[in-house]
Amino acid sequence: MHNVVIIGSGCAGLTAAIYAARANLKPLVIDGYEPGGQLTLTTMVENFPGFPEGILGPELIERMRKQAQHFGAEFRAGAVTGVDFSKRPFHVTVAKEHFPAKTVIVAAGASARMLGIDAERQLIGHGVSTCATCDGFFFRGKEIAVVGGGDTAMEEAIFLTRFASRVHLIHRRQEFRATKIMLDRARANEKIHFITPAVVEDISDVSKNSVETALLRNPETGQTTELPVEGVFVAIGHEPNTKVFRSILDMDENGYLSTLNGSKTNIPGVFAAGDVQDHRYRQAVTAAGSGCMAAMDAEKFLEASGH
Ligand code: NAP
Repeated sequence: MHNVVIIGSGCAGLTAAIYAARANLKPLVIDGYEPGGQLTLTTMVENFPGFPEGILGPELIERMRKQAQHFGAEFRAGAVTGVDFSKRPFHVTVAKEHFPAKTVIVAAGASARMLGIDAERQLIGHGVSTCATCDGFFFRGKEIAVVGGGDTAMEEAIFLTRFASRVHLIHRRQEFRATKIMLDRARANEKIHFITPAVVEDISDVSKNSVETALLRNPETGQTTELPVEGVFVAIGHEPNTKVFRSILDMDENGYLSTLNGSKTNIPGVFAAGDVQDHRYRQAVTAAGSGCMAAMDAEKFLEASGH
């Protein structure tokens, strides 16, 4: 029987593990599909407090993991395939193994939607990014592309004009999903150049480990063009990793878990932290903060139920 099972090993899950372990709760962390979460897909992180020279995303995560292990957290590889929150103790299933738990912290994160081209995965952190707030600073004076037609793409394009000399906004349709106000704001920005309809077919140059051009195709005419850019920001939305919790935990229409009064879900004893319940801030530091909240809430819950 585990006091706390933490689902997810990104910033939120690991911070929850550090707090729960220091409270002597011996938490079990289930790694998930992407151990370490989105930070493992970035290179330099310059906005995590305490690292004035910056720190590599994977290193930051590795340090958090060691810190959690140091205080007694245990880790289990694999992804959660099922949960039973209908009665206590809860049950968390990973393939054929079942883990009974007095409390559960869901920190399964959200995954950035990707375009699905090979070069994109290979160049992530080397010119391809899914986070303007994280990486915009590295593109000072450079020409870059933002892909997407929703509010996130508009917001990221506008933000990136602070650094980039020019931002090409690439969207696959003429119509936009973005709200009018955001679209108008982007259109009014003279540094933003709209290219529609256009699909990114490829990004080069993988052999140089840097972005030099984006190959665009007009889906209506089939015509292709090469756009010289030094960065490509993929801003086509995120998917919270909540499939396994459908019809069990309350979520909004986009699948993000609903939390109230801190990290509480609709099931007493089940808590949620990080991007799985936050589509707004999505920062390492906010995910870490909410992981801390969830661990403290779980501890209080255990105390109150005479753990
Ligand atoms: P979104 O509204 O789902 O938009 C995703 C965009 O990416 C769409 O334009 C979509 O094109 C495009 N796209 C999806 N898959 C693609 C692919 N494989 N290749 C090329 N393009 C692709 O997502 P979002 O912009 O992240 O916004 C999510 C939610 O957060 C929305 O409700 C939004 O209003 C909200 N939000 C609000 C703000 C704000 O108010 N400041 C800021 C950010 C987000 P199609 O249109 O052709 O499907």
